[in-house]
Amino acid sequence: MHEIQVHNTLSGKVEPFAPLKPGVVQMYTCGPTVYDYAHIGNYRTFVFQDILRRFLKLRGFQLTHVMNLTDVDDRIIANATAAGVSLRDYTEKYVQAFFADCKTLSIESPEHWIRATENIDTMVELIQELQKKTYTYNSEGSIYYRIAKFKDYGKLSKIDLSGIQVGARVDNDRYEKESARDFALWKAPKPGEHFWETAIGPGRPGWHIECSAMAMKFLGETIDIHTGGIDLAFPHHENEIAQSEAATGKPFVRYWMHAEHLLVEGEKMSKSLGNFFTLRDLFAKGYKPSALRFALASVPYRRQLNFTFDGLQQAASSVERLRNFAARLKNERFPAEKQAAMAERIAKAAANFDAGLSDDLNTAQALAAVFDFVREANIAMDKGEFRQGEVKAAQEFLATFDKVFAVLEDNDAEKLKALGYGASEGPGDAEIEKLVAERQAARKRKDFAESDRIRNELLKRGILLEDTKDGSVRWKRK
Ligand SMILES: [Zn+2]
Repeated sequence: MHEIQVHNTLSGKVEPFAPLKPGVVQMYTCGPTVYDYAHIGNYRTFVFQDILRRFLKLRGFQLTHVMNLTDVDDRIIANATAAGVSLRDYTEKYVQAFFADCKTLSIESPEHWIRATENIDTMVELIQELQKKTYTYNSEGSIYYRIAKFKDYGKLSKIDLSGIQVGARVDNDRYEKESARDFALWKAPKPGEHFWETAIGPGRPGWHIECSAMAMKFLGETIDIHTGGIDLAFPHHENEIAQSEAATGKPFVRYWMHAEHLLVEGEKMSKSLGNFFTLRDLFAKGYKPSALRFALASVPYRRQLNFTFDGLQQAASSVERLRNFAARLKNERFPAEKQAAMAERIAKAAANFDAGLSDDLNTAQALAAVFDFVREANIAMDKGEFRQGEVKAAQEFLATFDKVFAVLEDNDAEKLKALGYGASEGPGDAEIEKLVAERQAARKRKDFAESDRIRNELLKRGILLEDTKDGSVRWKRK
């Protein structure tokens, strides 16, 4: 196995990865702001962190991974107020949609999901600590962080602070580097809006304090990995560092890992360009969850991902190729005698797969290792040169691959059905198996008219049958 290397935004370098406590990884991911359905750009980041956590687990690390749900922020408060409902009522729909989307994309659940609104006390305590250490000041009922006092401000995003006016403030949670200013830790209540009555006064938390408080509460003062999209590096993560390190005097995060942007057909995704997609938009068009996961995972996370519909089709064929190969291994019978060359070939593929992922999660390299092997093994099978003795090792390699990529199981139809897509189309597995068995029986008694009728009926309902050389039948959904 190879040494794991990751790119750390803080150092700007690729570094060997070693957690603080051997064998145990503490990881924090900025979760969604649940004011709308998350889009495929968001899911690019969530698939990246899923690949990371699955790979770390594959390599034997015990993981404590926390993801937050930002269920209070300016937009949520504004929308909930406009709709005349409580924050919880407003966000719950999007929280449940996010959980369902993650499940559909085979994104593993982190060890802890935490909601900002359930941790207001922790945020207040952290603000009090910052007040005690004089990193804050009050203005018109809000509490601001004094960035001039934190000497390391800017170390993550490398911003130039020379032109910044001391004491100038910004009230929005999201702003550009050019408007770096003292930011709000606690916001004064506005008339008619939701607020909390607390020891530091009435109001609501700023977005940045949420993550600092929750990360340290669940994972401790210094955590191993913090992930997020690159657009969060400034100001969100920069501010997380300023808050946490000022309060504890200790390094907050040892490895900062950021996923690059996603473009759609070469352009920035935006509602006005009509190229803005949620997962559900794509499922409604008939694309499979496994194809989408594969497309999002196949480009290494630090490269910009250009999402195209051609690419999504290719991803679907790639998944299909792997599933077909897995089916061949399962269903075909190969000559018995051993053959050392193929065993070595499988070991080499496994080593290359590990080398790819160890190299800062180079998913493209890892996938190349898999597809090179599958191509060669398929050729060997066609020539009658693949041996039964190699099946187990090949299956184990595919299983290892799938522990990270999670696309082999043919459960797209089920997943889509669970989300309410294609519910009336297509028969279930049990019905298909029954019809396949009936067709087999018809073939046995040489009733080919009946056997063809069943084949055509299944085809009409989207099920393809494939008769194998040894007389068995494979089926798959179109
Ligand atoms: Zn965050």
